[in-house]
Amino acid sequence: MLMNGQPLSVARQIRKEAARLGFAAIGFSSPVPQPVAMQHYTDMLHDGRHGEMSYMEKQREERSDPSLLFAGLRTIISAAISYNYPLHYGDGVPKISKYALINDYHTVLRAKLEDLVATIQLLVEEPLNARITVDSSPLLEKAWAEEAAIGKTGKNTLLKVPSAGSYIFLGEILVDREIVATKLALPNYCGSCSNCLERCPTGALLEPGKIDASKCISYLTVELKREFTAEEAAMIGEWLFGCDLCQEVCPHNRQTTIKANESFVLRQNLVNITTETILNLTKSGFRELFYGTPIFRIGLRRLKRNARAVADNLKRSLYINA
Ligand code: SF4
Ligand code: SF4
Repeated sequence: MLMNGQPLSVARQIRKEAARLGFAAIGFSSPVPQPVAMQHYTDMLHDGRHGEMSYMEKQREERSDPSLLFAGLRTIISAAISYNYPLHYGDGVPKISKYALINDYHTVLRAKLEDLVATIQLLVEEPLNARITVDSSPLLEKAWAEEAAIGKTGKNTLLKVPSAGSYIFLGEILVDREIVATKLALPNYCGSCSNCLERCPTGALLEPGKIDASKCISYLTVELKREFTAEEAAMIGEWLFGCDLCQEVCPHNRQTTIKANESFVLRQNLVNITTETILNLTKSGFRELFYGTPIFRIGLRRLKRNARAVADNLKRSLYINA
């Protein structure tokens, strides 16, 4: 499988294997400094827009220089996989973000990246050091994905991959080998569109590409550990876990030709689940329903917190619309 020892050919073989494994895109970048992305990150912390995600304040040096995470780092391989399957919610029911209604992507993606590492090992023939990361290292992963030319960040702050849109998961492989690849310059996909900024119900998208995470429903329902204030409870609206509004309105997600990878099968029993069901769950019932999904990670206490708020919000909107 060695391609005459030519680095470019190695990249091509890796792309071929990645496509076979079901990745929507894969790209390669050298660990060069990312001053613009790092400045945006620092500004977010400085402004307190990261809310109570104190883990974001740690390992700033590693974030700025990934070679501190992995000795001998020569190439960051960024890989994207689609979970853009069709989903239709009923009216007036709690909503769960698309990424949470399927098997936990951390497990699926890591297994596929392990397969990819095995192929790369064969291609380079010499012993290879590699580290896989799926949200498990302090990497500026969107910056590296842009550097690798697999996508562009939109005004909603999410990476959009050509033909796949923004319903994608990202993972990375750090390797101690230089892998050179041709890169196509990607256009700015947003143009004059501002659907996401107009549609965000909480004003979390302050301006194109700038988010106040502390106002974002995804942060409130997934990341925030404490009880809600009354204002926060009202902000989450009908969203039980996550929020997809700024992706639902993005025209690029309606024009995708690459669809969800077959590993991501919708758990139909979770669509349109009621707040009553959640509020009556025991620990074992919670495990039975949610084990293996991203929702299991937040635990029953926080899911019930979300369900109480959503139940109140749905009642209020029924009353208002009556
Ligand atoms: S996920 Fe929801 S709350 Fe967060 S920025 Fe997007 S639309 Fe706004
Ligand atoms: S909704 Fe429009 S402005 Fe927002 S990310 Fe999509 S294309 Fe860009």
